[in-house]
Amino acid sequence: MKRAILTERHKLEIKDVPEHRSGYGEIIVRTAVCGVCRTDRKAYGTGQRDLSMPRVLGHEIAGVISEVGDGVAGYRAGDKVVVHPGLFCGECGECSSGFDQLCGRMRILGFHEDGGFQEFLRIPRDGVKRGIAITMPEGLSFSRGALAEPLACAINMAESMRPHKDDRLLIIGAGALGLLTAKLWRSRGVDDITLTDTNETKAAIAAELGFAARPAAGDVRREEYDAAVMCCPSSNAFGTAAEALKKRGRLGFFSGLTGPALETKTVNLIHYHELRVFGSYGCSIENTRSALALLDGKIAIEDSLVHRISMDELEDDLRKLERGEIFTHLDFE
Ligand SMILES: [Zn+2]
Ligand SMILES: [Zn+2]
Repeated sequence: MKRAILTERHKLEIKDVPEHRSGYGEIIVRTAVCGVCRTDRKAYGTGQRDLSMPRVLGHEIAGVISEVGDGVAGYRAGDKVVVHPGLFCGECGECSSGFDQLCGRMRILGFHEDGGFQEFLRIPRDGVKRGIAITMPEGLSFSRGALAEPLACAINMAESMRPHKDDRLLIIGAGALGLLTAKLWRSRGVDDITLTDTNETKAAIAAELGFAARPAAGDVRREEYDAAVMCCPSSNAFGTAAEALKKRGRLGFFSGLTGPALETKTVNLIHYHELRVFGSYGCSIENTRSALALLDGKIAIEDSLVHRISMDELEDDLRKLERGEIFTHLDFE
């Protein structure tokens, strides 16, 4: 089987290796589709806090169970599954209260353990026990299944920010997470949604999907919005979001910042305007289950937003941080 191994930064090796066999309590998943997201590009280019190398990246995984090890109950070869990438302990305080994405003993597929940029994936015994292979709804495509993880991240944020139908929402960054956030909030009755992106193609796509869109964050009006969600890592955008919010507005903060430190005047707006700031990192397994249900019903993703690539095109794709495509799928089918 083929696997793409990140041996060091900027170096991806495609290797042909013997297929995995399932050990006791394990299952093997044949990968059908694995999403390639901005976090993978960051891991490839600059590394990431939770990444150790050599590593097979990829954490947005949908596929079919090809082998079930001894001692496994509840799964059969042929089951279509989405793999939740978080191997959480299931016992600590965070896990017990449903915030397993914050588990102190977390190992994430594609960061601490090998992920989905390979033809077959081994789900370790503790992952099988925690149910990280989640059976897909009948009839849902693998391509939609692979969107469960990013949508689950948007759900995690929305759980904290609590969308209200009268909200005016600003989203900075009209990439994958920005659009999924927009679609999620719309599915919860929020109509007034504006997306901004410095990339004109992305702004145009957001407009085509019926959202208000602006080509740059700089021209959003001040103190107009009830909620702002940053779907980009720029500290300038944090400033724009804070200024765009009404007093007591809610600011969602998805991505670790790159670039210069926040300005004091931005941070002080949190104080003077009583802004409420919500951080969010990844998603719980419950968020992933909810995402799958939404993708099977309320949230439709247009095929034209999905760009498909093969293993041979993967490294070229990982090099491109700024791009026009919204979702990229490594397609094994
Ligand atoms: Zn991702
Ligand atoms: Zn835990």
